[in-house]
Amino acid sequence: ALAGTPTSGDQARGAPPHLIFIPSAGMGHIHPFSRFIAALASQGAVDISVVIALPTVSEAEADHFTALFAAFPAIRRIDFNLLPLDDATLAGTDPFLLRWESLRRSAHLLSPLIAGAAPRASAIVTDITLASQVIPVAKNELRLPCHILFISCATMMSFLAYFPTYVDGANTDHLAGDVDVPGIGHLPVDYPPQVLRDPDNLFTKQFISNGREIAEADGILLNTFDALEPEALAALRDGKVVPGFPPVFAVGPLKSTSTEKEAVHGAWLDEQPARSVVYVAFGNRNAAALDQIREIGAGLEASGCRFLWVVKTTVVDREDTAELNNVLDDGFLGRVHGRGLVIKEWVDQEAVLRHPAVGLYVSHCGWNSVTESAACGVPMLAWPMTLGDQRLVATVIRSAGFGLWLEHWSWDTESSLVRAAEIAEKVKAVMGDEAISARAKEVGREATKAVAPGGSSHRSMQEFLATLK
Ligand code: UDP
Ligand code: UDP
Repeated sequence: ALAGTPTSGDQARGAPPHLIFIPSAGMGHIHPFSRFIAALASQGAVDISVVIALPTVSEAEADHFTALFAAFPAIRRIDFNLLPLDDATLAGTDPFLLRWESLRRSAHLLSPLIAGAAPRASAIVTDITLASQVIPVAKNELRLPCHILFISCATMMSFLAYFPTYVDGANTDHLAGDVDVPGIGHLPVDYPPQVLRDPDNLFTKQFISNGREIAEADGILLNTFDALEPEALAALRDGKVVPGFPPVFAVGPLKSTSTEKEAVHGAWLDEQPARSVVYVAFGNRNAAALDQIREIGAGLEASGCRFLWVVKTTVVDREDTAELNNVLDDGFLGRVHGRGLVIKEWVDQEAVLRHPAVGLYVSHCGWNSVTESAACGVPMLAWPMTLGDQRLVATVIRSAGFGLWLEHWSWDTESSLVRAAEIAEKVKAVMGDEAISARAKEVGREATKAVAPGGSSHRSMQEFLATLK
């Protein structure tokens, strides 16, 4: 063991606890970390260090952290030089998955870095993608508590935690059929991340080993709130999913930080009537096929609704050079001028969702986006992809009742193109659905209550902080 006793002299003298954050890669993973860190930093109740992996994998992520350090000068930065990843078997792997692997293979190098931190570390908070490597380092070498800040919903956490039990019971090494998660229910085989059907995919291997280690964590921080996922949270807390599961702190919805400033399109939104605009955006990693983009355009046009549509044609952020005019059909922008705004650049999504003119969010169901929509009381039309957690996330929208999920809408093949007429019809239907809109407002009020003093998420945060003392 590199470290000494778990209680440091500093803390005995009443110094604040010192949390070490070890984030992973991918904007969907980085956002919840910076939001949680910013929330703690503005309270000033803890010392904070953030481990930054070098070399950087994405400029956008590096810029994001630079802005966080600039906004909160008291946060310390710990540079973490990764081992080079020389492995021919990984050629062609997604750059973010590769970065997770590289972080995982370098995890043993964290011990001396964290042991040397001053003031002495009180606990580690890391990402699920690193769990099976970082938890043993924290507990066995550093003798520090280790918490997981999970980036998805409680439903996904339940699935992740139960998956090793499922594969062992089914005597397999991958997703081979429907899964019954105790306390959650029956999940058809096409709900969980479909990549798990491939036993040879690196994601599948990481997912299973992280799932096996998760019960060893000291706490699980979730960006959700009790009123949004009551059953899943109860199932985890009651040990129904996995007996002896660690304490679960539902601290969401996490708020975006002032460091995320981007275009808001407030001037245009200000001119639109209340609840009249359909916001359409499919996250930072989903580029739709050209044919599908054109159907979406035609569908929005035919719906007669006002819309704010973020179009993405490439997978990597901010590298999109295609001109909108070449992507959309001739004359589209002219025909919808005034009632439709089509943009390619990054928007301040939370500000858009919070704008009173927005009445519906047609979404790919990234969890951050769903929590933002829930917090703002905006109804959703769920159009998840099958690759990641998005279909499990769509089940949360469905069971919480603030949106519609059309299960047959896929992104997968050309034959399954969702046609303009159906898009128009469903957009109009949800825009006019009083029950969904009332439920969305209710969910928004619950979200506000949860994070206010005395609310469930506020209390969970206090309980989490109390474990550090
Ligand atoms: N995930 C997980 N365990 C892992 C790796 C990922 O539970 O070992 C989860 C992750 O939290 C997310 C989902 O799997 O909910 C898909 O991860 P990815 O980052 O690929 O999502 P995307 O960026 O595609 O939305
Ligand atoms: N986002 C944004 N502007 C954009 C696109 C996305 O601010 O133009 C933010 C969005 O608010 C959310 C995050 O990026 O916080 C996307 O994360 P999510 O989990 O929803 O989906 P992912 O893109 O990771 O699949």
